[in-house]
Amino acid sequence: MGRIIKREIVGFTCELRSCGQIVRTHLGYPANGTWHDQLEELERLIGLGWSIVLHPQIRTYCPDHADRVWDCSCRTHPTRASLCTSHNTNSEGLVWTDRHTPQQVEDFRKVIS
Ligand SMILES: [Zn+2]
Ligand SMILES: [Zn+2]
Repeated sequence: MGRIIKREIVGFTCELRSCGQIVRTHLGYPANGTWHDQLEELERLIGLGWSIVLHPQIRTYCPDHADRVWDCSCRTHPTRASLCTSHNTNSEGLVWTDRHTPQQVEDFRKVIS
């Protein structure tokens, strides 16, 4: 029998590697979960001034770099143009800040309330 190593998310870090800000989470979400599993913690992050992009691999930006959520990734990463929040309307709709909540989050809240 193999040993099962449970992968869990222990915290959210700023997308900017040079930054290093982190918010620890106590809930231990499975690393292969989706944002739906983490809604409560993501709402806490937003409350703290963070910005989020709800890509399958969630991107989080600390309050100091919250505006970087809109950074264009087309030019620096042509293969990731579809992830650009400035030029791809699909990605734009995944941006979650204290000023704007994605439609799919609103919809999900209605489902679980
Ligand atoms: Zn940062
Ligand atoms: Zn772009």
